[in-house]
Amino acid sequence: MARRGKKQRKHFACGHIGYGQYCHTCAQAHKEAEAKRQWDALFLHDPIDLRCLPHSSFVKKARHILEAIEKGADYRTFDGKFLKETGRKFLSIPLGRDWRILFRLSDASHGNVSTLIPVRCCSHETYNNFISKLR
Ligand SMILES: [Zn+2]
Repeated sequence: MARRGKKQRKHFACGHIGYGQYCHTCAQAHKEAEAKRQWDALFLHDPIDLRCLPHSSFVKKARHILEAIEKGADYRTFDGKFLKETGRKFLSIPLGRDWRILFRLSDASHGNVSTLIPVRCCSHETYNNFISKLR
């Protein structure tokens, strides 16, 4: 067979047209789908649902805060504030300008250690509704 100087475009079995041994369009789509699947799977390990967050950077920040608080970090490090209107039973940590992570204060049954339990992560708006119902 005579070799041609130019690469030939191929019709792959999937219907795409391209160069090379396999379809790069499908390979790329598969890679992206796999990355998305792995990303989605991470949400199953979060103590609260973080899928409402609009961007992965928020999700990463939220996970960082949740992990730090769980390990006993001071909520004030993250600008957390107890909500007076809830009788200081709830605490809010801002996540950017528009998002909040809400925690509930729980008194451990043994000893005097109070722990913060994540309740939900929500937009500022949802959060205001939620708080007004607690009053
Ligand atoms: Zn293809």
